[in-house]
Amino acid sequence: MTSSVFADEKLLFTPTTATSDAIPTIFAFPNEYTVGITSLGYQIVWATLAMRTDVQVSRLFTDIQESLPREPELLGFSLSWELDYVNILNLLESLNISIRAQERTNNHPIVFGGGPVLTANPEPFADFFDVILLGDGEDLLGNLIDAYKQVRNCDRITQLTALAQVPGIYIPCLYQVEYHEIDGAIASITPISPDIPPVVQKQTYRGNVLSASTVVTQKAAWENIYMVEVVRSCPEMCRFCLASYLTLPFRTASLEGSLFPSIEKGLQVTNRLGLLGASVTQHPEFGELLNYINQPKYDDVRLSIASVRTNTVTKELAHTLAQRGTRSLTIAVESGSEKVRQIINKKLHNEEIIQAAANAKQGGLSGLKLYGMVGIPGEEPEDLDATVAMMKDVKKAAPRLRLTLGCSTFVPKSHTPFQWFGVNKESENRLQYLRKKLKPQGIDFRPESYNWSIIQTLLSRGDRRLSKLLELTRDFGDSLGSYKRAFKELKGQIPTLDFYVHSNWETDMVLPWNHLQGPLPQSTLLKHLAHTGLTAKS
Ligand code: SF4
Repeated sequence: MTSSVFADEKLLFTPTTATSDAIPTIFAFPNEYTVGITSLGYQIVWATLAMRTDVQVSRLFTDIQESLPREPELLGFSLSWELDYVNILNLLESLNISIRAQERTNNHPIVFGGGPVLTANPEPFADFFDVILLGDGEDLLGNLIDAYKQVRNCDRITQLTALAQVPGIYIPCLYQVEYHEIDGAIASITPISPDIPPVVQKQTYRGNVLSASTVVTQKAAWENIYMVEVVRSCPEMCRFCLASYLTLPFRTASLEGSLFPSIEKGLQVTNRLGLLGASVTQHPEFGELLNYINQPKYDDVRLSIASVRTNTVTKELAHTLAQRGTRSLTIAVESGSEKVRQIINKKLHNEEIIQAAANAKQGGLSGLKLYGMVGIPGEEPEDLDATVAMMKDVKKAAPRLRLTLGCSTFVPKSHTPFQWFGVNKESENRLQYLRKKLKPQGIDFRPESYNWSIIQTLLSRGDRRLSKLLELTRDFGDSLGSYKRAFKELKGQIPTLDFYVHSNWETDMVLPWNHLQGPLPQSTLLKHLAHTGLTAKS
C-alpha cells in the first residue's frame, strides 16, 4: 500500500543520490499522507532536502512512511494546523524520542519544526522542539543544514548554541521565561547566556520566484492538483489578519520568471491548476495571468483560485472560473456592518459585495459563499442586524444564486494589531442570533464551532506553560472536554483559560512572543491599533 502511494507520485524535480556520509534525516507531516502532500510548504521543503547530496531524507506521515533511517540526526515537522501537535507527540513516541526537548540526549536527533503555526507563535509547543524555524523557508532551511554540518560531531548543547546564531533559527531551551506569579503574566524572556541573541528575527524571502508544486498525485486531498503561489502576504492589512501581517511585505511572483514557466511545467503532468496566496486576484498582472491560462492549449484545464478579493469578482473572472469547473466562489466580507469593516481596515462596501454577487451569477457561477466573523472588537448587537440586512440585499440582487454565509468567531492572532484583544464571550450567542435571522430568508448559514475557536485562541496566545496542559489533554483523549479537565488538573500552576482566551491584555504586557520579531515592530502594531479608535485594555 505504502509503495503504491509513493509510486503514484509524479515528481516535478529530480531527487539526487545522497553521498555516503549524508545526514540521515526524517521529514514528517503530522497528519495523513493525503493532507500532508497537499501542503505546498511540505512539498517544497521535502524537495529541497531531496535535492541535496548531503542529506538523506525520508518522509513520514501518520499513516504511511518511507523507509526510515535507524539513527536519524535530524527530524523535521511541518506544522500547518495547530491541533496536529497531538500527532507530533505520538510520532515522537513511536520513534522512541522523548517528547520534551530537555530530556533528549546526544543520541537523539535534533527535532526541528517550521510552518505557519510555529512562525506565528511557537511558545505553546516550545518545549517539544529543539529548533524552530521562523519565517520563509527559502534560505532558512539551507542555512540550517549548512550550520548543522559545521557542528555535526559536537555535543548537543554546542550544536544548539551554534544554530542559535543563524538568523531566524530559534532554540527555545536557550531562553528563560520568568513570571510575575506562577499562574500570572510573563515578567521577562531573556537568553540564558550573552552569546545567544535576545531577539530572533523572522526571515523574509525577497525574490520574485515563488513556490510551485514539486509533486502531483491523485492521492492528494485536492486530487492531481498542481499548485502555484501567485502572491505572498496581502497588502490590505485587515487588523486581525495573520495571513497579511505575519508574512509582510506583499510579494508577487513574476509572470515570465516564475508563473508562466511553472504553469507550463505543471500542466504537462495534470490538467488541474490551483492558484495560491492570501490575495491572489491582487497580483498586479492578474489579468495577464488569466489570459495566459485562457489560451486554447489549456482549454481542458480546471482552475481553482484560493482567494478572491470581493471587488475583483468581475463577470469575466466568474465566466473563466465557471468554464473551468468552478461552480462556486468564496469571498471574505467579515461583516455586513460598514462600521465594523472600517474598524478592521477592510476597504469594502456593501454595494461592492452586492455587485460581486450579481457578477458571479451573470458570469455563470451557481453559488457564492460569503465568509464573516462575529465578535470582532468594536462589534455591537446592531452590527449583526447590518449583516442580516446585507445578506438580504445580496439575495435580492442575485436571487437564483445559491447563497451561503460561513461564519467564525474572531480569534486574536500574534503579530497583528488585534493580538491584545480576547474573544468576546457573546460570540456564541451572536452566531445563534445570525442563524435565527438568516434561516427564514433561505440563506444557508454555516457557523464554525465556537468551542474550537476558544482552543485556537488558547494556542494562538499561549505561552510555554501550556506544554504541560497539551500533554495532559492528549492523555485525556484530545477532545474539547480534555482541555477543560486539564485546566482543572493544573489549577494554580498555570493561568486560567479566561486569562489566555477572553481577557484583553494590557498593551505594555510582555507577550509570549516578545523575543520573536515579526515583520512589523510592536510600535507599528500599536499605531494600527490606535487607528481603529479602540483600546485593548479591559
Ligand atoms: S483582504 Fe483578506 S487576506 Fe488581505 S488582509 Fe484582509 S482578510 Fe487578510
